[in-house]
Amino acid sequence: LRKAVIAGNWKMNKTPAETTALINEMKPLVANADCGVIVCVPFVDLCAALEAAKGSNISVGAQNCHWEKSGAFTGEISAFTLKEMGVEYVIIGHSERRTYFGDTDVTVNKRVRAALDAGLTVILCVGEYLEQREQGITAELVAMQTKIALGGVSKDELSRIIIAYEPVWAIGTGRTATADQANEVCASIRATVAALYGADAANALTIQYGGSMNAGNAAELLAKPDVDGGLIGGASLKAPDFAKIVEAAS
Ligand code: 13P
Repeated sequence: LRKAVIAGNWKMNKTPAETTALINEMKPLVANADCGVIVCVPFVDLCAALEAAKGSNISVGAQNCHWEKSGAFTGEISAFTLKEMGVEYVIIGHSERRTYFGDTDVTVNKRVRAALDAGLTVILCVGEYLEQREQGITAELVAMQTKIALGGVSKDELSRIIIAYEPVWAIGTGRTATADQANEVCASIRATVAALYGADAANALTIQYGGSMNAGNAAELLAKPDVDGGLIGGASLKAPDFAKIVEAAS
């Protein structure tokens, strides 16, 4: 029913030359993938990534975009610019953006809106801090993040949304959520989307898990019914590791 999607989030890593080299190394390793394969690279690496990925099954994404089409927004990048370049995907609302750069549920919603208007597909990130998990409010919090981010998004547009559940305590820590924890929250997100858009739309939605997913633990996480892929940080920077995760999803 749902095809798995494995996306690498390179974060602030790799120069343009390194981007070309890494994608060239990945291409043969993921060529037979039976899942979506995306690399989300720094803005200035997008040209190199698009060029290197040309003619392959690797799609290219950015890691953020602004909500205005153009204007006096120093240092920001328009979704329309990304689209014109040939970029297909954009991560919105990553916890690092929310934690370090002031993104809020409201600005995340504006960025989602702009990305959809530009014709991009959004990888929308939601997830709780450890304190919130310990308070027992994970499902409520993630439901709220999801609802606010999807404000004004139509049922048709939902086909251009991927949701990534990324518990903040699992990101870059080596502490992965258990497969059951990941599945439970992904299922709760699907229920939230079903309440908003109906069961068919929710069942068609790709929901990824992210947070210390690697070549060793990917298969177990991806085997869960509501985990439809992964958003991979550290392990996406090594071609063999990334390829193993892609293989586990295929
Ligand atoms: P790590 O895989 O390095 O934990 O990062 C996950 C992440 O934040 C992907 O967006």
